Amino acid sequence: MAYEVLARKWRPKQFEDVVGQDHVTRTLRNAIESGRIAHAFLFVGPRGIGKTTLARIFAKALNCAQGPTATPCDACDMCREIAGGNSFDVLEIDGASNNGVDQVRDLRDAVRFAPVRGKFKIFIIDEVHMLSTAAFNALLKTLEEPPPHVKFIFATTEGDKILPTIISRCQRFDLRRIATAMIVERLRHICTAEQITIDEDALLAVARGADGGMRDALSALDQLISFKGDTLTEEDVLAVFGLVSRKSLESLVGHMLQGEMGAMLQLVNAFDSAGKDLRRLVVELLGHVRNLLVYETIGASAAAAALDATPEQVRVLEAQASLADPARLLRVAEQLVMAEESLRHTLSVRTRLEIALVRCSRAATMVTIDEIVRQLNVLRQASPPAALAAAAPATRTPVMEDPIVRRALEMFEGSKVVEVEE
Ligand SMILES: [Zn+2]
Repeated sequence: MAYEVLARKWRPKQFEDVVGQDHVTRTLRNAIESGRIAHAFLFVGPRGIGKTTLARIFAKALNCAQGPTATPCDACDMCREIAGGNSFDVLEIDGASNNGVDQVRDLRDAVRFAPVRGKFKIFIIDEVHMLSTAAFNALLKTLEEPPPHVKFIFATTEGDKILPTIISRCQRFDLRRIATAMIVERLRHICTAEQITIDEDALLAVARGADGGMRDALSALDQLISFKGDTLTEEDVLAVFGLVSRKSLESLVGHMLQGEMGAMLQLVNAFDSAGKDLRRLVVELLGHVRNLLVYETIGASAAAAALDATPEQVRVLEAQASLADPARLLRVAEQLVMAEESLRHTLSVRTRLEIALVRCSRAATMVTIDEIVRQLNVLRQASPPAALAAAAPATRTPVMEDPIVRRALEMFEGSKVVEVEE
């Protein structure tokens, strides 16, 4: 039997198999079960997260011999034809290559004919934002009053480019990037079934490389299997994506937050020599700092759902949470955002990265005004009122000469005080 790529073999067949889009699948299932099915749907979301897959499942749900049903049988002719992409009643149109007004006119003619075998005639238009304005306008008439046997499912990566008049005639669903932990879980399930031996960090690396897209994750897995066989390590995966290992990334953040600039720059040197993707590194650093910020801000127990992290990553966040408070992390994150932007347009990536990391490290270790104020309050409460009265002359002293401020500053000896613009 011919080899079937994993992305195709493991393509979800039912709503419940679709990973990470519960908010969409639940609504669609409810609509089918309650019989309130709109005539046009718009799926918006980044590439490779399952828009077309979802459209096909929905088409099966509508046209299954036992349908409309939220659980299509996958056995009847209709289900099988739709899954195979050769149903007469479900037309998949690529908006990118059929974007002219003539094609839309053809479509309008096709709409008039009743379905051949199923209950509905379903038009799935992928990359619908590629349609020309004239084509959109030609489509508008049909969308306003389609025959009852017609359903439209539009998919696009760029929701902003769809005319408001079209959007207002559709039920819109925004599909999300799939959380890393969810991709890891799905990959683990597939690898077990396919008898692939792969460790946790390698699974995580595949998910990191895919950046929220299940299709990319499975394509990468396919590539790795044909390249390395059925035993895969983190090293194998990192080599394919140019990513740094989870542990290196985490120790880079550790050095940064503790002001260990020498160790930090040595790591950068090692990454650069190993040909790692330094632009990608900044994006991943930002993700880690973001997770740390969320972890510290909303607390360990509440954070689990909000974090895009595996349990192992959460353990590291727990350990690093004491290294910098949210105010400092925010400054680090701001530096990384600027670095990400500037690295896009530069050839001297390494130098820019080093400068950015030194800035991040300074931002993480310099004393913040918040901290000084907090210390001041502690001191004020500890000082007897008489001492305060003596220390506060009738005329206002410049803040740096206030004895209590001075004492607070002395407590931070060795650190630099942040200059703030009021
Ligand atoms: Zn069926």
